[in-house]
Order: sequence, then C-alpha cells, then structure tokens
Amino acid sequence: MNSRREFLQKLTGSALALSVLPGTVSAISKEFTEMPYDGPVLRVAIMGLGSYGTRVAEAMRDCKKAKLVGVISGTPAKIKNWQGTYNIPEKNCYNYENFDRIKDNPDIDAVYVITPNALHHDEVIRVAQAGKQVICEKPMALNAKEGEEMIAACKKANVKLLVGYRMHFEPHTLEVIRMRKADEFGKIMFFQGLCGFDIGDPTQWRLNKKLSGGGSLMDIGIYAINGSRYMVGENPIWVTAEETKTDPVRFKEGVDETIQFQFGFPSGAVASCLSTYAMNNLDRFFLNGTKGFAELMPSTNYGPIRGHTNKGEIDQPTVTHQTVQMEEMSDILLRGKQPVVPVDGEEALKDLKIIDAIYLAASTGKKVDLNL
Ligand code: NAD
Repeated sequence: MNSRREFLQKLTGSALALSVLPGTVSAISKEFTEMPYDGPVLRVAIMGLGSYGTRVAEAMRDCKKAKLVGVISGTPAKIKNWQGTYNIPEKNCYNYENFDRIKDNPDIDAVYVITPNALHHDEVIRVAQAGKQVICEKPMALNAKEGEEMIAACKKANVKLLVGYRMHFEPHTLEVIRMRKADEFGKIMFFQGLCGFDIGDPTQWRLNKKLSGGGSLMDIGIYAINGSRYMVGENPIWVTAEETKTDPVRFKEGVDETIQFQFGFPSGAVASCLSTYAMNNLDRFFLNGTKGFAELMPSTNYGPIRGHTNKGEIDQPTVTHQTVQMEEMSDILLRGKQPVVPVDGEEALKDLKIIDAIYLAASTGKKVDLNL
C-alpha cells in the first residue's frame, strides 16, 4: 500500500464511505500508522499509574500524534519504574502535592487523569487551573453537579476537557453509527445494552462508595448508558430503573451490584439495559429498527470487537482502542478536529445526569424525566 488514499479506499471501499467515516480512518492500519508523520504531537502526562494508566501508556507507544512525557503519582517507586520504562525525564515527574507546578512546565500539553472516580473532580480542576488541557477517565465525576463544576473550571481556565470514551473511535461501533445514519436499519425502535463482569476482590476501591461513587453503574453500566445514546442517536427523555442485590456483604449500601434500567427517547424508541458486577462476559449491544438490526458482541471490552447486522458480518479492522483514542484526541486538542461522537465534558455530563436519574428512579421506584 503506497499512499493514504489507497489505504483509505481499500479500507472503506467507496468515496461515499470515506466521507462518512472520518473518525475511523486515521490510525487503524499498521501500514497507515507506519507512514511518516511530521505534524504536531500532544505531549501527555498520566496521573494515576494503576492498571488502566499502564494500559494507556503501553498503547501510546504506537501513537505518532501523542507522546507520554510525564507522570503524576503518589508512589516514588512507581515514578522511577515508569521513568525507566517510558524514558520520562525527572523534570516531568510530579506527585499529588506539587503537581500544580506543572503550569510552569512548557513541555507538557495535557494531563490524563486515570485515578479512582471520586478524585477526578478536584484533580481535573487543579489541572485546568494549571493551564493544561485535560483528559479524564470515565465516569467523569460522581454526579452531575461535580461535572458542571469541572466544565466551568475548564472554561474559565480556557482549556479543553475530554473524557476517555474509547468506543467513540472504535471502527465496528462507528460502522453501526454510519449505517444507522444512512437509514440502513430504518426507524430505530429498540436498543439493548448488557454490560457486566464479576468484580472479584471485595477490598478494591471500586466497591468503596467514597472512592467509586456507586457500584457497577458508575464503572461498567455507563457503557450501556453512553452506548444507548450513540447507537440510537438520541438522548433519553425518561428513565425507569430497578436495583437487585444477591450479595449484600460484598455490595454494601450505595454500591449497586445489578441495576436494570429503561430509557424512552423523543422518537418513541426505547432502551432496556442491564449493568452488573455479578456476571462475567456480559457485553452485548443490540439495535433494532423497522428494517433491520445490528449486534455488537463483545461491544465495549478491549476487543477484538465483533458485530453483525441483518446484512452480514461487520467487516472492520481490529484496533488498540487507547492508541486510536489518543491519536484522535491529539487531533481534537491540537487541530480542532470534530469527532463523529463527541468526547467532551458536555457529553460526559449527559451521562452523569442519566446516572443521577437512574439512581433516583431505582431508589424511588418512580419514572424520572430528563431534559438533556
Ligand atoms: P487502579 O486501582 O488500577 O489505579 C488507580 C490508580 O490511582 C492507582 O495507581 C492508585 O495508586 C492511584 N491513586 C491515587 N490516589 C488514590 C487514592 N486516594 N486511592 C486509591 N488509589 C489512588 O484503577 P484503574 O482500573 O486504573 O481505574 C482508574 C480510572 O480509570 C477509573 O476512573 C476507571 O473508571 C477508569 N477506567 C477506565 C477504563 C476504560 O476502558 N476507559 C478501564 C479501566 C478503568
């Protein structure tokens, strides 16, 4: 494959498809990623060197448009280890006490916050006040009020706030969105999102409400919430929800084990979703319209994502989600690119408003109206 154009044509098959797949084509072929690049590079510091931070760092090794250049951690030994592994200079290393000083560091453009959920609010605001672009992991915050404060702080500091919605750049996902927009499924009537895994270790922060903000819904159910919006192409106007618990010892008060929730959309379409910490390998999106269906299974794990429609297999490349995400986020932050599905703070705030509504509906047993 000699050129970008040839690659794109092979990938999408037609000039029409090219015009509707802007998010999928930039970093998904080995041949393509190996092409020389001399444009701007987003210089990123990762805050929180845990399991997902490590996954992002490893994936960034293959990025051309983004580079890991700094770390923020409370554990000196981890910092040393990362310095060796990723060739990070001493001057780009910070801890949670002194990271506000990052404002005086011209060699870091953005900080990627990958810490437990409850810390995102204060950390994102401090990064914004230091004048750096912010990428924050999902869920962006514990509730909509926190999310609004984070968005306001970033606006005030004139920095952008993006959220790590890696599926928004995943080729099978984007192909279903393209087909839906092209009316290939007809009028959308129904979405089902099933998201779960067995959480394991009862002592981890994910089961501590103070650090997690809740249970499975905050962590894995958010994929069904967000997915229902990008698959159906609308925002819900009402929510109902029911919580069930089989293990009240592991899942304490305020930490949901399993929640089922339902959405109604302005068009009349409905969604039915399940979020759980009690079942492994539950990972399926199903969209049905008057003409046809799309199924993604798995739909949100690290991949390979697989899917088919009533027309057959969804033939798209397998990618490392975090590599593509960071390439695309570089384009968004440095070149003002508009992604097919937004990944900004406002997008994440909608999910937080829905999470608030689901918890309210589950605790009251009442239907909750939404105006997003
Ligand atoms: P983790 O426990 O593996 O890592 C968390 C890191 O934060 C650790 O290095 C820990 O030392 C550090 N930390 C800093 N202050 C802490 C404190 N007060 N208490 C506990 N830890 C503290 O967790 P993780 O799986 O890496 O998750 C981190 C974030 O990333 C969460 O918000 C999670 O939802 C998100 N995440 C996103 C994805 C995704 O696919 N987008 C996947 C996994 C996790």
